Amino acid sequence: MDYEELPKIPSSRFELLPNLWGTPNSRLFIFDVKNPNLCYEFSKHGQNFECRKCLEHPNGKKYTRANLIKNDAGESFIEMDETQHVCKVQDFKASKRLFTTDQFEKSINSKEKEIITVFNGKNKNLCYKFSYDDKLQVFRCLQCKGKHITAKVCKRKNDEEYFLLNYEHCCKAMARNFYAKNC
Ligand SMILES: [Zn+2]
Ligand SMILES: [Zn+2]
Repeated sequence: MDYEELPKIPSSRFELLPNLWGTPNSRLFIFDVKNPNLCYEFSKHGQNFECRKCLEHPNGKKYTRANLIKNDAGESFIEMDETQHVCKVQDFKASKRLFTTDQFEKSINSKEKEIITVFNGKNKNLCYKFSYDDKLQVFRCLQCKGKHITAKVCKRKNDEEYFLLNYEHCCKAMARNFYAKNC
């Protein structure tokens, strides 16, 4: 394949988050063109990123690599080594790692920290809370101890926001009144 013909993915279709150990920009999420709830998930390996589900595929591992490139104008994009995944694209909304604006609320606590409350179901009784981590510059789950379960507020092309998690929680959703009023 010609260098010119390699598919380029614009920044509107991918996001970066820290990994479980808090290394910045080490998980890459590339969204489907047609359905932005569908996503391929990559982890950093050396200078490249590798699709997790292709690596873990039961029919044998495959290296589906993505490269993060910055051009002279400072714009970032992804260049795929190839386009063929052996894995199936994941529905992040169904697996509760992508939340649309009806599923989360923004607030500011008494220490002027930004808080995101994510609702687990329709009744909004159970929730997860995230507070802004100044060092990592992402939101971090208050109840997931030991692991960096982080998330960020992202924007779609139409400016609609969504909240994206780097991994599934290791904590459980809690009742709203479990959290101190100011957290
Ligand atoms: Zn894959
Ligand atoms: Zn959690």
